[in-house]
Amino acid sequence: MITTHNLGFPRIGAQRELKFALESYWKGDTGVAELGTTANKLRKRHWQLQEQLDWLPVGDFSLYDQVLDMSVTLGHLPERVRNLPGNELTTYFRVARGRAPEDCGCSTGHTDEPGVAAGEMTKWFDTNYHYIVPEFSATTEFQLNPTRLLTQLAEARNTGINCKPVIIGPVTYLWLGKSKDGSNRLALLNRLLPIYRQLLDTLAQQDIEWVQVDEPALVTDLDESWKEAYRTAYNQLHRDDLKLLLTTYFGELGDNLELACDLPVNGIHLDAVRGVRDVQRLVGQLPADRILSLGVIDGRNIWKSDLNALLDTLEPLHREFGDSLWLAPSCSLLHVPVDLDSETELDPEIKSWLAFAKQKLEELVILGRALNEGREAVAGALVDNRRAIASRRQSTRVHNQTVKKAVESITADLGNRLSPYEQRASVQRTQWSLPLYPTTTIGSFPQTVEIRQTRSQYRTGKLNEADYRARMEAEIRSCIRQQEELGLDVLVHGEAERNDMVEYFGELLEGFVFTRFGWVQSYGSRCVKPPIIFGDIRRPKPMTVEWIKYAQAQTDKPVKGMLTGPATILNWSFVRDDQPRSDTCRQLALAIREEVLDLEKAGVKIIQIDEAALREGLPLRHAEWQTYLDWAVEAFRIAANGVADTTQIHTHMCYSEFNDIIEAITRMDADVITIETSRSDMELLDVFDNFRYPNEIGPGVYDIHSPNIPTQEQIVNLMQKAAQRIPAERLWVNPDCGLKTRRWDEVLPALKNMIDAAHELREAVN
Ligand code: GLN
Ligand code: ZN
Repeated sequence: MITTHNLGFPRIGAQRELKFALESYWKGDTGVAELGTTANKLRKRHWQLQEQLDWLPVGDFSLYDQVLDMSVTLGHLPERVRNLPGNELTTYFRVARGRAPEDCGCSTGHTDEPGVAAGEMTKWFDTNYHYIVPEFSATTEFQLNPTRLLTQLAEARNTGINCKPVIIGPVTYLWLGKSKDGSNRLALLNRLLPIYRQLLDTLAQQDIEWVQVDEPALVTDLDESWKEAYRTAYNQLHRDDLKLLLTTYFGELGDNLELACDLPVNGIHLDAVRGVRDVQRLVGQLPADRILSLGVIDGRNIWKSDLNALLDTLEPLHREFGDSLWLAPSCSLLHVPVDLDSETELDPEIKSWLAFAKQKLEELVILGRALNEGREAVAGALVDNRRAIASRRQSTRVHNQTVKKAVESITADLGNRLSPYEQRASVQRTQWSLPLYPTTTIGSFPQTVEIRQTRSQYRTGKLNEADYRARMEAEIRSCIRQQEELGLDVLVHGEAERNDMVEYFGELLEGFVFTRFGWVQSYGSRCVKPPIIFGDIRRPKPMTVEWIKYAQAQTDKPVKGMLTGPATILNWSFVRDDQPRSDTCRQLALAIREEVLDLEKAGVKIIQIDEAALREGLPLRHAEWQTYLDWAVEAFRIAANGVADTTQIHTHMCYSEFNDIIEAITRMDADVITIETSRSDMELLDVFDNFRYPNEIGPGVYDIHSPNIPTQEQIVNLMQKAAQRIPAERLWVNPDCGLKTRRWDEVLPALKNMIDAAHELREAVN
């Protein structure tokens, strides 16, 4: 008999119940008991949804983050929260968000407890999920605290399921953390392993048979010391009274495959979607007494699996491996929405191509039955599946020959500007006579309640097109007036019409579809609803031209056109799995290019193309970086570079790590790049300096993630540091990112200080 299991289920709830319960608890509207009840209900419901599997994950549920949960289990929380008052949950949320519910953060002073620095958050491998980074130092100690896991286990047992506890393995745990004092975190392994042994003792006492030990770090580049850590760890953890399933995902094992096969564990789980090339190698090398768990259902995307094709490969494997073959999704289902059944308004044809978490588990059950009982046992389901797969493959809504031809006829010079930067720069400078240290913003201005209401009334039909337009134009006018009063040099229209920088364009492009409840956890209670790119991408008509033209008509100052770049749209969407990501990115590039050229034709002289998420697409393996950067940069060049010398192209990136991608950034050849720098004290400009970055840069001087208002002096200071690294003629003065999440009463004084600072800097030169 084949065994089916799941690695993890999305915890947020099909209606985002956990999000709302958390937020109301944080606000103080509800208490611990209500939060507990919601969490309880969700766990129970999710186990019920997984009921038909042989092993169900327990411990995958988290109130905030599974890595923070592991830190709690290991008794490893930052020093700064340890002696504050409150219970375990209070401490937990302090690490997660910098404050517990009782430190409400309002300025009325009814609590004497200040907020503490929240744990740093970073991306979980190459997903858009963010975890709380464990903080290590040479003196880090651990102490077992299995309460959370044991409580969930007891609960699961009550529902009568087959429990498989899930923990993050010791090497990946260290790998995920950061050393705060420069010490080597691997040196902590010897202190950590006894705690893991105690944890396994505890689980063995609970009569647990299998433990899922997540070690996704095994799909990354590991140097010898990390490989050795794996050997040390698993030689010490292996035992007779408990079986360990070494669980890897998000990629192939590649050069770590032998290492994984040598570890004394009882089974290995492989991501058989992204690591499909490893399947045969693993089959050949896995010792005979091991379980082989294949993650054949894609846990990172929303497409239906081709069950018939999967059975073609699985049947021979099943004959060979017999009971030792297990099946699962490729990774935890945390990264897909919960239930497609909620999408009652989705186009039925497209819906028939999709599977969310619940549907993915149904697929797994069908595969299991087909292997155990023969395909006849699930004949109806297999026919339906075949039909859905064929319909997607052949649909004219997916395939557009005109788009395919346009992509095929892309040539290298499509991405080349007419003249080199120096020449363009001098033409551009004379045409606008911009001052030294020109000031601008990144695009959005505060999204007030009224703006959001207007958009939602328009969406739901309560506001007609003309009234909507009139209200948005009024917003644009007032936004332009504010910027003129402030004295900014290059203005923006303010992005009031955009709910989200990707969704806005997705809704206007062909080839995209949107769900109503397709939420995926991004961090804590924050969820995103990624668009789905299902077909060839075409721009039926201009997307931004009317708004920008309207804004430009209100002022004599130049107004920047504002677009989202191809790699960012790609990286923040669920993408097609029937063609390479690079092909989809090229289609996006051509669509954005059309918009750029239309803006130019409409007289817009400065166009910004945001590539906020370019870095996020970097593959886990370094060897694959160049290929990704090549096509992502090429896509930007195609989108941006078809313009005349007199048109100035800006790009914007919302992060501060450029060391390893500066060469690619330079190749984009944007006239101006604005980046996030205010927190790093301009040190990150060193890389632009060392690399002799040739074009213009706007290093952010206003940290828009914080309510703090930077002073004129602070900004002058930052810009002077910048000018030590980049010639002043090539510097712009701007915030770190868009202002949409800030309030006008913060933005106005901050921008005023920024502009005063620019004046001070200019005067100092004259
Ligand atoms: N133009 C966008 C804005 O200002 C950029 C947002 C971003 O980079 N995340 O909102
Ligand atoms: Zn940004």
